[in-house]
Amino acid sequence: MPLITTLKSRIVYNSRGNQTVEVDIITDDRYIGRACAPSGASVGKHEAQSFPQNEPLRAIQVLNSHLGKFIGAEASDPKAIFEIIKNIDSTPSYNIIGGSMAYALSIAAVDSASKALGIPLANLLRNNKPCKSPFPLGNFLGGGAHAGPGTPDIQEILVCPIGAADIKQALEMNFYVHRELRKLLENEDKSFTNGRGDEGAWAPRVNNDKALELAERSIKNSGFEIGSDLALGIDFAASSLWNGDNQRYEYRRQEMSRDTDEQIEFVNSLVQRYNLIYIEDPVHEEDFESMAEITRRNQKCIVTGDDMLVTNKERVIEASKYGACSGAILKVNQAGTLYEALLFSEECKRKNLKIITSHRSGESVDSHISHIAVATQSKMIKSGIVGGERVAKLNELLRLTEYGLIDGMADLSS
Ligand code: PEP
Ligand code: MG
Repeated sequence: MPLITTLKSRIVYNSRGNQTVEVDIITDDRYIGRACAPSGASVGKHEAQSFPQNEPLRAIQVLNSHLGKFIGAEASDPKAIFEIIKNIDSTPSYNIIGGSMAYALSIAAVDSASKALGIPLANLLRNNKPCKSPFPLGNFLGGGAHAGPGTPDIQEILVCPIGAADIKQALEMNFYVHRELRKLLENEDKSFTNGRGDEGAWAPRVNNDKALELAERSIKNSGFEIGSDLALGIDFAASSLWNGDNQRYEYRRQEMSRDTDEQIEFVNSLVQRYNLIYIEDPVHEEDFESMAEITRRNQKCIVTGDDMLVTNKERVIEASKYGACSGAILKVNQAGTLYEALLFSEECKRKNLKIITSHRSGESVDSHISHIAVATQSKMIKSGIVGGERVAKLNELLRLTEYGLIDGMADLSS
């Protein structure tokens, strides 16, 4: 079994040009595992804290004063690494070492172990379960916290190639409609510069209604059938819209606001109007009741908690008491360690929630989440749409398919 012999960490930069931490873990003096921590722009209130005192360097200093605790540890065991990290930092939000460092340590360990054992990471994590490819949920038009002024308030309009026979076809379909959408946007706004948000989605100067209408038209113009070839989804990231002081969802760029009942009606009307198969955070992170009502009224749609669940097993248990979600975003860095994210995925399965493994808006070119998505039997993977750090995850799914680890696409219906 691979044992940790050396650890190193450093400051590197993410896709937004912000500092983050990267960890190298070497097992058996030979096998280098490496992981770089991603970071969010629309961050859930209950997520692990990224860095101690917001200082990436501080995370490195804390780790350096505890390096010896990792030497000799079993790198293939996420629980063993979790326990060492908890021994250094027992706070629930990783205030001492930072969630980013917890992420990088726990992923670098299994990365190294998979190399030592000569097997893909997905294989190491999957516990002999069958491996299917998650559907790529492409963010093809966006705004909110991921893009600048003038763009839609809605954070992400998503496309899912539900009719694709394999991952290659799925990716081709998403890229095709992304290109088609650019043409529509150029026609709509002569000053459109092909600007894109953090995840590669077009970031045009259009309001929410126009954005959805053009997204739908791009699918139809591409010759695809909505509902059988491709389907639409939305990440409202509604905690970013919510103003707790006046208890309203503020669509500032559209210069209007909605109270909770109006927000629920708005969400329901969009699900019906656009046959959405997926919605994420349609209400703010604490409103389990409204989320439950939306879930009840839209049983064919995957009603997903991101900021609401923050990859936290206890939040899933709480949300399930209300019947609040039918889908759950899995972002390892929200939890901190891989072990906690795996516990979360097991709880989601027990509660019959579909898992959607996700990147963050600030990313690296790492592709570990593709393996995690496959190993956790995720139905979908959110990885933006274009840009090196986004496509890195999608290309890894092609490789896993070529190596025979993936056998077909996930079943979205079960
Ligand atoms: C999201 O909200 O789903 C997302 C990926 O954004 P961020 O990483 O900014 O939280
Ligand atoms: Mg989200």
